[in-house]
Amino acid sequence: MKIIMLGAPGAGKGTQAKKIAEKYQIPHISTGDIFRANIKEGTELGKKAKTFMDQGALVPDELTVALVVDRIQKDDCENGFVLDGFPRTIPQAEVLDKTLADMGKKMDYAIDIDVLDENIVKRMGGRRACVNCGATYHIENIPTKVEGICDKCGSETILRDDDKPETVQKRLSVYHEQTQPLLDYYSRQGILKSVDGMRPMEDVFADIVQILGA
Ligand code: AMP
Repeated sequence: MKIIMLGAPGAGKGTQAKKIAEKYQIPHISTGDIFRANIKEGTELGKKAKTFMDQGALVPDELTVALVVDRIQKDDCENGFVLDGFPRTIPQAEVLDKTLADMGKKMDYAIDIDVLDENIVKRMGGRRACVNCGATYHIENIPTKVEGICDKCGSETILRDDDKPETVQKRLSVYHEQTQPLLDYYSRQGILKSVDGMRPMEDVFADIVQILGA
């Protein structure tokens, strides 16, 4: 099963993608996570990506597309994968389609998690991420057991630079301009499914399972 998660930043793509990956035993591929891992390791890619990410801008396609093209050709993607945060532009979607077509494959589902902008701003201000392992929390919805300390590794949790309110506004306008056109793109392919993302996480997941089949 090959799945794309769509939706504004903060709509819950990452959370749902992890749950899908676990239930259907397929790899979860998050370009944001790949960039953050590179930033942490101090790689050249990480340094370049950070300048765009901190401003709420998209990392240029030439730094992004090859990562995903390589990743989806690995053996563990044989039975499918769930893409989280990719594609984010029409050219990225076109490269993805072409790569899969060359492998005799195609995407099965594009799942859009629909959330109003005002809810996004509220949600992202409450988001916290572990400085060490990257685990994500929310001060109201998914709090850490001890405030400011990661449940998984005991390191500090912080508001990521790209989750700060001014950056979130920028990311939302980038989303509307560059990523939202993908809804039409996948609708035309007949694989777009929308779920109401303004309900509890478990209810959103139940809708997704209904779409994908148990
Ligand atoms: P995310 O964790 O998916 O919200 O991604 C965090 C940031 O990484 C985004 O705001 C972008 O700056 C960058 N990024 C992630 N995926 C992509 C992509 N497919 N294309 C361009 N930039 C991306």
